[in-house]
Parts: sequence; C-alpha cells; structure tokens
Amino acid sequence: MPMVKVLLVPYTKSMIADYMDYWIHAFKESFTRAGIPVSVDVWSEYLHPPMKCFVWDRVQYYSPCILEWLHGILGSRLQGYLVVGLGYLDAYSNGLNFVFGEAAPGLGVASVYTKRLSPAFYGEGMDWNRYAERVAKEIIHETGHLLGLGHCPDKECVMSFSNSVWDVDVKTRFFCGECSRKLRILLNI
Ligand SMILES: [Zn+2]
Ligand SMILES: [Zn+2]
Repeated sequence: MPMVKVLLVPYTKSMIADYMDYWIHAFKESFTRAGIPVSVDVWSEYLHPPMKCFVWDRVQYYSPCILEWLHGILGSRLQGYLVVGLGYLDAYSNGLNFVFGEAAPGLGVASVYTKRLSPAFYGEGMDWNRYAERVAKEIIHETGHLLGLGHCPDKECVMSFSNSVWDVDVKTRFFCGECSRKLRILLNI
C-alpha cells in the first residue's frame, strides 16, 4: 500500500494537460528514490479557481484564497489524500509579490502556479522540457511541505527555496539525503 496518496487537480487545460503524464512519472520517481511509496491520481475535471480569488488591481490570484477554495471543494472530502492543484496562472501570497506554489499543510492542500515557470514569461522562446521540469520540481516541493518538510539549505535539493526561476533551474527534482531521511521519519517508514 502506498504511504502517500496524492491527487493532482488541474485548474487549466492550457499548459497543463499535455504535461500531466510526465509530471506523474517525475513525481513517482522522486519519491521512490527517497524510499517513499506513492500513488498519484488526477482529478478528471478542470476546476478553475473562482473569480473571488482574483485580484484585479494586481491581475493575479491570491493564493491563500485558492487554497481555502480547494480545501472546501475537495480537500475536506477526500480522506487520506493530499490534494495538489496546478494551473497556468499567476498568484501572490502574503508578503510575496508572486509564488510558484504554496502549501497549507494544515488543510492538506497545495497549489502550483505555472505561468512564471514558463520561459515565455521572461521573453524567452518556449522550452517545453525546461517548463515541464520546473513545474515537476514545484509539485514535488509543495508536496514535501504537505508532508511536513521545511526548506532545505542544499541548493540542489528539491526542498530548497526558490526566489526565481533561476533558483528553480539550479535545484534538482530529488530530495537530498537529509530530507529523504526526514520524510521517512515523518511517515514512519
Ligand atoms: Zn517552499
Ligand atoms: Zn534537502
């Protein structure tokens, strides 16, 4: 039996649907390497966050609002699942002009916002592999938070904090030895 059950919830079809298989593969590989058995399911509908979470002045979503909404519609009903929503959106949070993702471990839900993970956002040509890999790292990172991990000082560890896409590119999508050990302790494996 997998110790960790994750449900990925697509917010948008655009920039998400075509990559889902790759992200599932990457997710499983990272956790397996850390010694954590995982299962991944994908919600069959696109659940677009409500406009009440959109802040027109900033043209961004307010991430804590999305997390509460996600918990309200899915998180509270799916016992035993960690719910990770992801969409081609831009969001900010308290004290942060933007976030690539945010986790609410107390609610068992997290979100990944992929707009600023796209090379196109920075005026570069679209690089499909780079985009896919950056998003994979953030999905795994936020799930690490949901499981109780904090940020890691190892710049190559997936739990390293990323201030920019360049930080995201420096880290790998794998947990360092120390974070892998912590995960196994947190999960009693
Ligand atoms: Zn983090
Ligand atoms: Zn680490």
